[in-house]
Amino acid sequence: MLQSNLSIGPNGHLLFAGQDTVALAERYGTPLYLLDEERVRANCRLYTRPFARCFAPGSLPYYSSKALCFKALYPILLEEGMGADVVSGGELLTALAAGFPAEKLCFQGNNKTPEEIRLGVEKRVGLFTVDNLLELERLDAEAARAGIRQRVLLRLTPGIDPHTFAAVNTGRIDCQFGVPVETGQAREFILRALRMPHLEVAGYHCHIGSQIFDFQPFADAAQIVLDVAAAVRDEAGYTPSVLNLGGGFGVRYKEDDPVVDIPACIERLSGILARLCEERGLPLPAVSMEPGRSIVADAGVTLYTAGPVKVIEGYRSYVVVDGGMSDNPRYALYQAPYTVLNASRAGDPCDGEISIAGRCCETGALIQENVPMARPKTGEIVAVLVTGAYNYSMASNYNRVCRPPIVLLSGGKSRVAVRRETWADMTACDL
Ligand SMILES: *Cc1c(COP(=O)(O)O)cnc(C)c1O
Repeated sequence: MLQSNLSIGPNGHLLFAGQDTVALAERYGTPLYLLDEERVRANCRLYTRPFARCFAPGSLPYYSSKALCFKALYPILLEEGMGADVVSGGELLTALAAGFPAEKLCFQGNNKTPEEIRLGVEKRVGLFTVDNLLELERLDAEAARAGIRQRVLLRLTPGIDPHTFAAVNTGRIDCQFGVPVETGQAREFILRALRMPHLEVAGYHCHIGSQIFDFQPFADAAQIVLDVAAAVRDEAGYTPSVLNLGGGFGVRYKEDDPVVDIPACIERLSGILARLCEERGLPLPAVSMEPGRSIVADAGVTLYTAGPVKVIEGYRSYVVVDGGMSDNPRYALYQAPYTVLNASRAGDPCDGEISIAGRCCETGALIQENVPMARPKTGEIVAVLVTGAYNYSMASNYNRVCRPPIVLLSGGKSRVAVRRETWADMTACDL
């Protein structure tokens, strides 16, 4: 099995977090998102433990809310000692509504609206990551209005290509996030921020991409940012007290994907950072990271019920499931790989390939193509693995399909954390 929270029951059903997925599908209906709470907690500890051991006091991993955001997640993150990143008023208010402390939030994003900036300041979020000059000015004005000095990080673009695919690669110079180092704009941006009377520059931020399986790209990014830090120190006498290296550690979607040892990578990074700082005569900053995918992805499984099975003689076979790009758009967007199992007969041998199609009206709206598996029959339960990140959070009401519920699994028990949308919800905003 792809991951340790999966197994096969004596009845041949797929077990997830020790629970029978076919029974869960019967109880809660399909499509259905399952989330393994113990796995979320274990993934948080992959960061919190080495952070406490290796980095300077004040270092903190921030969970990147965009990967998966719903209220019941935040008490879990808080108990595990995580901070959290938000990129919109919606994510911010979700975290606060769940009792997450504002001072442990970091407000990200490359175009926070004036209303969102105001909201963040009013709610006293601990940190803003400022992406651009316009926002620097708007935030300074808003902080002035509120009579506070807002702590900020400045988002720099180090120009690193972490060798991931283009759609999730944000460290290159040519992208819409942050201020580029190579063009000299980063230096100007920092000097400008240091003159803002109502902002306190806590340090620098960078995020180089996603699905990174090694510490080296983070070390490369840190080196570039620390070079800027040293230059600014020489010019303006300012040294950062925080360095945020962004998110992006990879997860395994398929058997042949590499395994990343996150605690070992963090340990290596801490050594490299210490050396880089020493070489430049910089004090060791507190370190932050913003893992999203690696916290929730392998804690999630999506269940569907197989509908029609279409065998196109001489071509290929399709099974159409009762969800699709409305609950998981990632294959349609960028051919994201997934492992798919027949949850009703998880122990059965593969008997051919089948493509998993969704019910949305787009030819490209597949969940996965040509999957070798025990081919599902109508009525059987199909499980798509490692769907905890960027599935629910990217779900839509395309075709006015209702979004599935999220059921949290913990200690052999299950509970609905997000209810299933209803047809009434589909017209709730219509006047
Ligand atoms: C998307 C994103 C993250 C999280 O990336 P993962 O690959 O989910 O870990 C963190 N920080 C920023 C700025 C991001 O845009």
